[in-house]
Amino acid sequence: MSRLVVVSNRVAKATDGKGRAGGLAVALQDALKKLGGVWFGWSGSVVAKQQDKPEIVQAGPVTYATLDLTRKQYNEYYNGFANRTLWPLFHYRLDLAAFSQQNYSSYREVNTLFASKLKPLLKNDDLIWVHDYHLIPLGEELRRAGVTQPMGFFLHTPFPAMEVMTVLPSNLDLVRALCAYDVVGFQTENDLRAFLDYIVNEAGGGIMGNHLVHAFGNTLRVEIFPIGIDVEELEKTAQEVGRGKGSRRMRIKPSNRTWIVGVDRLDYSKGLVQRFQSFERFLESHPAYRGAVTLVQIAPPSRSEVIEYRDIRHTLEGEAGRINGRFGEFDWVPINYLSKSYTRIELVGFYQASRIGLVTPLRDGMNLVAKEYVAAQNPEDPGVLVLSRFAGAARELEGALTVNPYDADGVADALAIALKMTIEERLERWNAMMDVMRANNVTVWRDNFIETLRGAPYEV
Ligand code: UDP
Repeated sequence: MSRLVVVSNRVAKATDGKGRAGGLAVALQDALKKLGGVWFGWSGSVVAKQQDKPEIVQAGPVTYATLDLTRKQYNEYYNGFANRTLWPLFHYRLDLAAFSQQNYSSYREVNTLFASKLKPLLKNDDLIWVHDYHLIPLGEELRRAGVTQPMGFFLHTPFPAMEVMTVLPSNLDLVRALCAYDVVGFQTENDLRAFLDYIVNEAGGGIMGNHLVHAFGNTLRVEIFPIGIDVEELEKTAQEVGRGKGSRRMRIKPSNRTWIVGVDRLDYSKGLVQRFQSFERFLESHPAYRGAVTLVQIAPPSRSEVIEYRDIRHTLEGEAGRINGRFGEFDWVPINYLSKSYTRIELVGFYQASRIGLVTPLRDGMNLVAKEYVAAQNPEDPGVLVLSRFAGAARELEGALTVNPYDADGVADALAIALKMTIEERLERWNAMMDVMRANNVTVWRDNFIETLRGAPYEV
């Protein structure tokens, strides 16, 4: 049986068990424990001098190997190219994308470095699975270094439309690197379509049928693998929370008040400013709900060294203050804005206590919060998911009320519809979403990808 080698920017800790790590980390760790293998990536530390060898932690059949970054690499590769160029570009925020040749060179150098430090850890029949936009060129660098094992790449973010992708000065170089993998996986049909459009019209490549693409002299298999969650684990946690575990905070919820919950990293792609403004529109157009409905928005700050993230925080705090000042009463705050992170069990408590899950990203690869909200609902009295059409999850969760996050009136109306929805309709919608999520949980996602990788190399 081949071993599995997982490469991602951040590496889960050997000691992270269920409850602490997210569904993705647990699913990958389970596969590593079963197949044996390596999890390789950045340690999360920034140091003065790059170490010669990765730090190794051996846990049974799994080797955790991590490298530190220097301050320069951290600024240029991580904060620079990954988070100030690719992230905004892949989320259609051209206005926020910064382009710098220096940052791209550094991004390539870190990928070359990772490839050179990973290579000595590989065995002949390993399967190599690389994750996300930080590490697109890793496969090409491994091939250059003589690695011949099957290599797959999964993009957790959207892949942008060709017109957006071509704004990136190094777009051709980057897509050429992507085509060095044997398997490339995307979250949705839209992402795959955008990639194929690029391959045909910019890269001079061809679509060969049977999921195969030929470009830059390579044949690769391209497919969609929509990522799922560990539905069973979430349902179990939800039952425990329902029985009282970890729900201390939830008891402070006033019984005469309805909650709408939002849970998002504080990121401009999540549409938080538009969400607050839509909630304001809802209070304007549906005055009967004033005093009765509260938007509880959990938004832990992220990437705060990047200026655009400080700006969005500032704007959001301003909007929360303005709307609360406009509509608030001495005994009711319309938006309960919580700028910190909560544990999984606490989040499940928030999901359960809320009649609506409001998930309105302007663009999102998948959005796991949408799925978690659904899985955490009481099967006899489920809440309603109001979901942006621009979240990858909208492709699967047809039982959600779909909205356009730019359309404040539309979101306001959807909130009113959700609040009035009959139990029959809520049950029907919830069951439809649970069926899809159970059929495509995180284990299915992982196993499908690994099976496809096992079939490499692919030839036309
Ligand atoms: N999350 C968390 N605590 C928080 C906020 C979020 O554990 O305070 C988790 C959440 O449960 C979800 C993940 O972070 O599993 C966010 O994933 P998602 O796909 O929704 O968005 P991303 O942050 O990856 O863009």
